[in-house]
Amino acid sequence: MAHVLLINPWAYDFTAFDLWSKPLGLLYLGAHLKRRGFKVTLLDCLDRGDPDSCAPKNEGPRKLREAGCGGYFREILPKPVFFSSIPRRFKRFGMPREKVLARLWNLDPPDVVLVTCGFTYWYPGASVFAEILRRAFPRAFLVLGGVYPTLCPDHAERLGFDAVVSVADPLSVSRHLEGLLGTSLGIRTYEDFFAVPPAFELYPRLSYGVVLSSLGCPFSCTYCASRILAPSFFQRPPQDVAEEIRYLFERFGVRHIAFYDDALLFRTESHFLPLAEYLVRLNLPVSFHLPNGLHARYVTREVARFLKRANFSTVRLSLETAVSPRQKQSGGKVTNELFEEAVRALQEAGFSPQDIEVYLLFGWPVEEEGDVVASVLYVRSLGLVPRLALYAPTPGTKDYETFFSHEEEPLWHNKIAFLYRRGWSKLYERLQGKGKC
Ligand code: SF4
Repeated sequence: MAHVLLINPWAYDFTAFDLWSKPLGLLYLGAHLKRRGFKVTLLDCLDRGDPDSCAPKNEGPRKLREAGCGGYFREILPKPVFFSSIPRRFKRFGMPREKVLARLWNLDPPDVVLVTCGFTYWYPGASVFAEILRRAFPRAFLVLGGVYPTLCPDHAERLGFDAVVSVADPLSVSRHLEGLLGTSLGIRTYEDFFAVPPAFELYPRLSYGVVLSSLGCPFSCTYCASRILAPSFFQRPPQDVAEEIRYLFERFGVRHIAFYDDALLFRTESHFLPLAEYLVRLNLPVSFHLPNGLHARYVTREVARFLKRANFSTVRLSLETAVSPRQKQSGGKVTNELFEEAVRALQEAGFSPQDIEVYLLFGWPVEEEGDVVASVLYVRSLGLVPRLALYAPTPGTKDYETFFSHEEEPLWHNKIAFLYRRGWSKLYERLQGKGKC
């Protein structure tokens, strides 16, 4: 049977950190391919648990390390000419290059290689792999997929792969892949796609698990690509999700699981609440994490109680901005009143202010400095800690069309590069709690 090699390339960036980061789409495809009898091998350059990965210089904060996260090993590289004005060092994050090459030379030659690429500005990782793979496996069929080719399809076509899958919706990806492989994967519905757990067994060791209980988001915020990446909104049956969590714990012994959902709390009565009830009943010694942030408008007293009872340890609320006209302008997903109700509900349920992190978008072109400062002061006035999420220009979004449609080079989407281009790096440092606003 054919051999399929799955690759999650290095990250080329100024900064990168493993915050419950796994190539989940690739792992689902791996599971389906295995089920159809393919031999499947994974090379995840960002797997910190791999024996070939080296210790990072910066391990990261203790709280995150205890939750399975951590820094990557990194090597400093010459800066691309595009970034010559950015006063930061450019790096390759992940396994050392020579270890990756040695691993590839020792592999049974694959027939097909599926390479994913998470961010548009991480395409250099995919590009380098196109060259390496061509030399190592001249007969293999090289396929590129993921967020980057979905958002920048024309650019991705020029990287030298045999095929580019420029969609991210699982059913469309499966159809493409079936055409390329010349065989059915048996995926006709989202239920089929989620019927197998992701192929986590391809990892030698897991320090955390990740789970996706729903696809997409019913909102359309002007800065977000969720609708482009997942045009349909779909929620899995809560019991299936709970059983997958039980499987992750029993099979791999993970004590930390992150939800990748964009809209975990949407239709909460039929989704999150029953799911949390299952989790409470399972009573596993597992902490849950929400790297994507919660919709404050759905955090009722009941939801907050279940978040606490089911052991969601750190709760992140997505506020983005506390300036009312900006909230409306971006799509109106939240207001300060709804946000404050959510905070009250969480605190009544037993979450301390340190447990509640608040995402604020930093660098969003719609905002002026005064808007951001006002948002930070507002969050602090509630006794909470703002987390500044750096804005990255994202192709296909309304804001990108308004502010950046002339730009083609995906490196410019890098959030650190954009921070400097906007001239807000000093303000960022000041607001990161190191100075007064
Ligand atoms: S609510 Fe969140 S996930 Fe949904 S469109 Fe807005 S930013 Fe994206």
